[in-house]
Amino acid sequence: MSTTPDLLQYRRGLHDLGSGCFAWLLPDGSWGWSNSGLITGSGTSLMVDTLFDLALTGEMLEGIRPVTDRHPLQTLVNTHSDGDHVFGNQLLAERDVEIIASRATAELITQDQVEALASVRRRSGPLGEFTRHAFGPFVFDGIVATGPDRTFTGQETLDVGGREVRLIQVGPARTPGDTLVHVPDARLLYAGDILFIGGTPVVWAGPTSRWIAACDLILDMDVVTIVPGHGPATDKSGVGPVRDYLQFVLDEATKRYEDGLDVEEAVASIDLGRFAGLPEHGRLAQNVLNVYQELDPAVPRPSRYDVLGRIAALEGFGTGEESR
Ligand SMILES: [Zn+2]
Repeated sequence: MSTTPDLLQYRRGLHDLGSGCFAWLLPDGSWGWSNSGLITGSGTSLMVDTLFDLALTGEMLEGIRPVTDRHPLQTLVNTHSDGDHVFGNQLLAERDVEIIASRATAELITQDQVEALASVRRRSGPLGEFTRHAFGPFVFDGIVATGPDRTFTGQETLDVGGREVRLIQVGPARTPGDTLVHVPDARLLYAGDILFIGGTPVVWAGPTSRWIAACDLILDMDVVTIVPGHGPATDKSGVGPVRDYLQFVLDEATKRYEDGLDVEEAVASIDLGRFAGLPEHGRLAQNVLNVYQELDPAVPRPSRYDVLGRIAALEGFGTGEESR
């Protein structure tokens, strides 16, 4: 590993990655516990993603002040549209920070997204039990969906106080607008949720093959340090396991589709093997469904929350034991 010692610690808060770049990490990296980044240039800085609620984002804005007092925050880039990366956006908009995201990401940042998440916690059954468990620590009251001031498609190069920062849209992959944030002179990459380190990836948009291609792109890039959307900072050694999991699910699901199994039969019959120990293993339900949808456009497309219910059931929620 050519990483600095600070990188090896997975603790909540600010991490100095060297070369004027930082990460704000939120262990344990499971549902909603996401990471942000901070890139400084001369007299300015750029944030990569906000956090899942206003309190978490406020805590981060306070915690990074030793850096932003010298390098005022002027730009925010959202790597994708999931709430745990955008729900704090309004706190930056209030400070006149310019928000930038891919066009496909912008289209999905809506107030409906906030309300749906808040209301799903009141549901009964596995879904309600699961969301109260997973999203219980977060407060969605007062969140005003705040999209970007400026959008791009494909690639965009930003000047952050004399420093080049490259935005590379690799979505649709995990979500429609996934974007990598590359700082060439620091050989550093903020990967957003294209990388989950130590957890199970979940393919919401797909196709899975494009996510695998995004992993290959990262492996081909001149980067040393990588900050994932969830989990500890890593280097290229962290990319392989994500790529391997995705390829495994793509192969196993495709085989079962060709054998005539339906989605439920496919999910039930896949032995995760070396991936079985990863947290959030129930995400297999969505990942197999996504492969089926790609192979056959006639396969139904249930809402994300219906799928969350299936994931919850696979992980043992809904058995009446609320207290797990
Ligand atoms: Zn996330």
